[in-house]
Amino acid sequence: MSKQGAPLDIDVMVPEHYAVVHQGTGRVDFHHCTRCKQIPVATSVIDHQYYAVVNVACLHDRAVFAPPRPVDLTSATMDESIARRRANWCSQVTLRIR
Ligand SMILES: [Zn+2]
Repeated sequence: MSKQGAPLDIDVMVPEHYAVVHQGTGRVDFHHCTRCKQIPVATSVIDHQYYAVVNVACLHDRAVFAPPRPVDLTSATMDESIARRRANWCSQVTLRIR
């Protein structure tokens, strides 16, 4: 889940359970909770700016958000993927590890 240009503050409260995994092209960081085995958020740095998308399945109150729209990622080239992130993902992102 994301909203273009929306701010997102990510606070890692328990660093012992925090891990970052790079997949595919390595341009997206998947932020894991190693205790829950969940990936609540993914980030990507494009032109020195952080972009982020939230895993709606990890939210407590997911019913307040619009239902998901299908996105076909299979045909995306690298440039298309970057353009899509830049257009759709949250873009005022802070990441704090406590
Ligand atoms: Zn957890």
